Amino acid sequence: MRPIQMVDTKTQYLQIKDEVDAAIHAVLDSAAYINGKAVQDFAASLAAYMGVKHVIPCANGTDALQIAMMAIGLEPGDEVITPSFTYIATTEVVALLRLKPVFVEVDPVTFCMDPAALEKAITPKTKAIVPVHLYGQAAPMEEILQIAKKHNLYVIEDNAQAIGCSYTFKDGTVKKTGTMGHIGATSFYPSKNLGAFGDGGALFTNDDALAHTLKTIANHGQEKRYYHDIVGCNSRLDSIQAAILNIKLKHLDRYNQARANVATFYNKAFENCAVITTPNTASYSSHVFHQYTILFDGDRDGLIAHLSEKGIPSMIYYPVPGHKQKMFASFNLPDTLLPITDDLTNRVISLPIHTEMDMEQLTYITEAVLNFINK
Ligand SMILES: *Cc1c(COP(=O)(O)O)cnc(C)c1O
Repeated sequence: MRPIQMVDTKTQYLQIKDEVDAAIHAVLDSAAYINGKAVQDFAASLAAYMGVKHVIPCANGTDALQIAMMAIGLEPGDEVITPSFTYIATTEVVALLRLKPVFVEVDPVTFCMDPAALEKAITPKTKAIVPVHLYGQAAPMEEILQIAKKHNLYVIEDNAQAIGCSYTFKDGTVKKTGTMGHIGATSFYPSKNLGAFGDGGALFTNDDALAHTLKTIANHGQEKRYYHDIVGCNSRLDSIQAAILNIKLKHLDRYNQARANVATFYNKAFENCAVITTPNTASYSSHVFHQYTILFDGDRDGLIAHLSEKGIPSMIYYPVPGHKQKMFASFNLPDTLLPITDDLTNRVISLPIHTEMDMEQLTYITEAVLNFINK
């Protein structure tokens, strides 16, 4: 059996090696390492895939979130509502920009922002909402967008874990996650569903003016070279990464399907297991399974150790929720009570899921989990 990994980017690369190597060599031949044709080509193919007007590539997903928040003209102290149950990048940039993170609960079934909790958290200082499409399925965007409209708030979607996921509105309209709010942010970190061979990220918007601002901020606040009109940063996707991503984008739907097949296998294996709650996909969303995360009502540390002994990695995404991170200590958060988030944090465990898993590995993993439970 091939060794089991949380992600297997090497085997995935070998399947498309010729195509990818040729694309890398084309960039080397062109010597257009920065802002080359490969970057424009990738941005255009990604815009077509996402069904969005503008794609602004940048250096990584965290930068994408930061640039999005810089683009909407917030003042220090303005409140940005986000889930606490997410990767730190979502909330870190809020603090970095001296804005105030306001953490709200997630739905215990979908792990995504709870619209009722969101509405309760709105104050006159609230300026933006950052829903996260966690683990690969969409946050309840229809409700979130309605609340945002009612209170005149910006919506920035953190789509780092859900590229390729679709959302179906009540009227039947289907949109890709990351294209429904004012701005969407995503990451091409190697382990993401659309992963580069290094860092990368992108911003999505259908708004021409915002697209212009995002692009300017990502480029030192300049439109005309050496004339810096606004405070920006330096955040670029390099041409080699763009060329690789443009190849991988063609395979993204197949990759997401392979992940969904793994999830189906796990779900079936665990369906009669009382101590495991398998992931639930909301009716409005597809699921691209960036992670396969179960709730485990048992000795979680014991299970992790048991799997590890058998050569099976597993992870807790994430062991400390945002509202309990020391970095936010100065933001007066000690009275934030998020029992659902705390409970999920204590029960989640993510099993290996990626595009290259085979039956032998899956059978081995599910047997190891069930053996631990039934021992
Ligand atoms: C990975 C990730 C990011 C950040 O992406 P980087 O490219 O690593 O900066 C942001 N938000 C979420 C939810 C992520 O999973």
